[in-house]
Amino acid sequence: MSDVLAVTGLRRSFVQGGARIDVLRGVDLHVGPGEIVALLGPSGSGKSTLLQAVGLLEGGFEGSIRIAGEEAAQVDNAGRTRIRRDALGFVYQFHHLLPDFSAVENVVLPQLIHGAETDAAHKRAEGLLGALGLGHRLTHRPSQLSGGEQQRVAVARALANRPALVLADEPTGNLDEGTADVVLGEFLRLVRGEGSAALVATHNERLAQKMDRVVRLHDGHLN
Ligand code: ADP
Ligand code: MG
Repeated sequence: MSDVLAVTGLRRSFVQGGARIDVLRGVDLHVGPGEIVALLGPSGSGKSTLLQAVGLLEGGFEGSIRIAGEEAAQVDNAGRTRIRRDALGFVYQFHHLLPDFSAVENVVLPQLIHGAETDAAHKRAEGLLGALGLGHRLTHRPSQLSGGEQQRVAVARALANRPALVLADEPTGNLDEGTADVVLGEFLRLVRGEGSAALVATHNERLAQKMDRVVRLHDGHLN
């Protein structure tokens, strides 16, 4: 089967204080359907920069990014929004949940935006949250949930629209070690069960080893 993600020759530079820094210097990366890849690298190595490019959240890169067979560099803004909505799910270090909506509503809303029926969206949201052990927290708002519970809701939200690829940037980086282990384990189990692929940035070698494959970002290159 063809790759869910095919990145070739990706370059990204920033100008900082008048000096140019080349963060990504020709990155190649392929992720197959259902494959879970850890993106490992120390702080400042460019993991977030790579995920933002692949997530079509930032322009300014050179090279090719093919998502589910479509060349992102060749689509306009509306096309990028469509690819993000139809093919990608996002989890960040901080949950970015909507504070005035309940857990279940935070998982329902992206589905409604995607065109789902209300009943079906609720059923799926409850199923995902239930699978993450949050069946008793459906009507709680984010502020009424623990950090681990908030990240679980963010995981359910990312998977709500059955993305081919989940992009996760230090998804457990804001949790204590024990909670991070549990939440990452649940995240991986759910992603596997759903058949999505995932690219997960982390600087934690131990967590990276739980994934199918590890790629390392070093001096602007992946190896
Ligand atoms: P990581 O996620 O691996 O910690 P980042 O991708 O956040 O690394 O950052 C990589 C490098 O790019 C850092 O030196 C950072 O300062 C720089 N950088 C990231 N985003 C910007 C930006 N918007 N403007 C200038 N420099 C940036
Ligand atoms: Mg980062």
